Amino acid sequence: MEKVFSMNAGDGDSSYAQNSSFLQKNVLLKAKPSLEESIRSWETTFECDTLCIADLGCSSGPNTLFVTQIITSEIGEKYAHKGIRVPEFQILYNDLPSTDFNALFKLLLAAPPAERSYLVAGVPGSFHNRLFPSRSLHFIHSSNSLHWLSRVPPEIEDKNSKCWNKGRIFISEKGPPEVGDAYFAQYQKDFNMFLRARAKEVVEGGRMFLVFGSRPSADKRQYTWASFSWEDLGFAIKDLVSQGIIEEERLDSFNLPAYQVSEDELRSEVHKEGSFTIVGLEIIIGSSSMDKYDDNEKGKLFSKQMRAVLESLISYHFGEKVVDAIFNRYAEIFTANIIQNEEYMKQATRIAVTLERNDST
Ligand code: SAH
Repeated sequence: MEKVFSMNAGDGDSSYAQNSSFLQKNVLLKAKPSLEESIRSWETTFECDTLCIADLGCSSGPNTLFVTQIITSEIGEKYAHKGIRVPEFQILYNDLPSTDFNALFKLLLAAPPAERSYLVAGVPGSFHNRLFPSRSLHFIHSSNSLHWLSRVPPEIEDKNSKCWNKGRIFISEKGPPEVGDAYFAQYQKDFNMFLRARAKEVVEGGRMFLVFGSRPSADKRQYTWASFSWEDLGFAIKDLVSQGIIEEERLDSFNLPAYQVSEDELRSEVHKEGSFTIVGLEIIIGSSSMDKYDDNEKGKLFSKQMRAVLESLISYHFGEKVVDAIFNRYAEIFTANIIQNEEYMKQATRIAVTLERNDST
């Protein structure tokens, strides 16, 4: 993951920057009231010269700036309202090293100076590890990122394991139940590392606002929008296997490194680690509507959005040459299953959670 994964670079037609205003921006718009509330309800004000804010899994594109703008203006207003001098804002943009940080910095510089009331720096690395100095951060934001794992659980690609996920690329209602358990075990390890690293970096009373894809039920295999649409991506790859374009072994050794946690699982992991308290939690339901498009356009649009996110992984594993064929077939399958896809999109859930760093005494 750390070496390969990145959203599509630049600001061209296939970039994440051009293909994140539909699905991911919708999440940000829906999460905005919770983010604002997370800052407004924050009792602690730090009387410091510099307030350090990190955006984890920031990627590169207009969404990143949109979020920075909300956070800095909310915190600024809060300080002004309390009659406290507004500190300087240091924004630390984190993502994996292959991310196009340069495109992000260019975008930042293109914004009018009046909208840039902050200083920025890029911090490459995995948020599953330490990224920042001890007790240096006051506020952390992370959107559409924390459902990504550090790796695929190895058992599910082991032919001799009960968890072998043959012919599929993610947890499925039709696959072995053990697959979901293996993914959850990986999530527990990763999220625990995430919390332990942040516990060192966030000052007492500091907050994190995290929004990420989730699962509404306890059943790990029940289809969600992501698992249903990723199953279709698996079918697209399978079709190319049947045509002899991709080897079967390549499909069997590919799985997506993500997990959609349920609210109960999340609460239990936070509680177990113990450094943070959940002070707010909202379940955001539904995704963007595709009503204005016809069925074929919907398939193409969705496939393009998915490609901006997954191309690096697909291309690394299957080779650049088959990427077009996979995503073209995926668009057709998405359209063929449009009724179910739209139904799952309406029911899609995200968790928007605010965590506060406990006193370490
Ligand atoms: N926050 C942006 C981008 C979300 S895309 C938005 O809401 O639009 C998800 C991002 O998470 C990607 O850029 C991906 O590279 C990043 N990501 C995934 N795993 C990560 C990890 N372990 N450490 C840091 N970033 C990660």
